[in-house]
Amino acid sequence: MNNDFTFAIIKPNAVRTGKTGPILAMINEGGFEITAMRMVRLTKSQAESFYSIHQGKSFFEGLIDFMISGPVVVMILRHENAVADFRKLIGATDPGKAEPGTIRKIFAVSVQMNAVHGSDSSESAQIEANFFFSGIERFNT
Ligand code: UDP
Ligand code: MG
Repeated sequence: MNNDFTFAIIKPNAVRTGKTGPILAMINEGGFEITAMRMVRLTKSQAESFYSIHQGKSFFEGLIDFMISGPVVVMILRHENAVADFRKLIGATDPGKAEPGTIRKIFAVSVQMNAVHGSDSSESAQIEANFFFSGIERFNT
């Protein structure tokens, strides 16, 4: 039984422009099982805490303003080798460098507004999943 999982966010630019459904379809077609999901509007302090690793970087303030600009969809995704495989499905941070057919290549409008988040390690996935979901909201993760 494969219990590996990652944590993902559909970012405000994608939700706002009606791309939630198409992105969820690509996630399903990629073989990922959604084991928890919710739409939420982040507070400033939640966004700052979620992205605290980037505090002090030049893009931090802009990133926070963007992430609180509208609702996002947060989810836990189960798949074998989930972290690496989801990063592959979404493509590079900079959509200009993302492979054709990746979610960011298709739906990103800039480096900042790059449509989706995916955890960078299993440790991050655990922390990020716990940040948004209690055990009772999660199925098999
Ligand atoms: N970001 C940005 N400018 C940059 C680098 C990153 O606005 O120069 C934003 C972008 O939305 C990115 C997020 O900050 O997804 C987190 O950056 P990270 O380097 O962790 O990229 P990711 O792990 O999301 O690919
Ligand atoms: Mg990252």
